[in-house]
Amino acid sequence: MTGPSKVLDVAGVSKRFGELEVLSDVSFGVDKGETVCVLGPSGSGKSTLLRCINWLEPPDAGQIYLNGAQVGINGAGLVMNDRDLSRIRTRIGMVFQHFALWPHLTVLQNLMEGPIQVQRRPKAEVRDEALALLAKVGLTDKQDVFPAKLSGGQKQRVGIARALAMKPDLLLFDEPTSALDPELVAEVLVVMADLAREGRTMVIVTHEMAFAREAATRILFLDHGRVIETGPPERFFTEPETERARQFLQRYANGAASGRA
Ligand code: ADP
Ligand code: MG
Repeated sequence: MTGPSKVLDVAGVSKRFGELEVLSDVSFGVDKGETVCVLGPSGSGKSTLLRCINWLEPPDAGQIYLNGAQVGINGAGLVMNDRDLSRIRTRIGMVFQHFALWPHLTVLQNLMEGPIQVQRRPKAEVRDEALALLAKVGLTDKQDVFPAKLSGGQKQRVGIARALAMKPDLLLFDEPTSALDPELVAEVLVVMADLAREGRTMVIVTHEMAFAREAATRILFLDHGRVIETGPPERFFTEPETERARQFLQRYANGAASGRA
């Protein structure tokens, strides 16, 4: 079922909250180096899908595999204990709309905390890597600053660097720019586009259509918890196959949604 280079395999995942079916039989794979952008109207299940991938929400049906190993269910077919689940989650980096940095730690300490405390890696090595990551996101001069002193765009770039510091196999982004002032969006998208070019393996929920068109290797269009369309961005944006995708794109073309649907 999982090919050798497939980092993520989502197989028939369904999830309901009470009466509401939020995800219905969602299946897709992500190969190493791919950037899959998940698009869809508000309430279509995008956040729930990301939360199911790292088992923050246990799916009601279906399986999640990370590099061929099942997430959430152990070898005996039982729900994993917290320790095993935590170990798998360290392989999956997450960047949310509001990424809570640790307020009492400096920017550099925010990056070093996980690798040292969770991964038990040597401090000197972790520090060197953290400094390199700060350079990558353009925040070398902020290493000793506390998060409260940063702009929203800078905080989000620290959030991305902090996720990268754990050397995850997969990065999940949930509308990382939706909470930002418009003039701060670009600096975060530039960092994400760099990661895509580098061949990081990513699943990105976004309403930034121009970014998705440029950076995605593949688009996954969700509506009412179902995968309605999937394919290369060029095809999705120029000749969507379904009326629902056409309507969705039309709303953005008209500027109605303005990136904050
Ligand atoms: P999206 O991210 O695409 O906007 P979500 O995954 O956040 O969509 O939500 C999909 C649907 O599931 C929405 O109708 C939302 O209200 C509902 N939902 C999400 N989380 C919960 C929850 N914990 N309990 C009940 N309903 C939820
Ligand atoms: Mg959401």
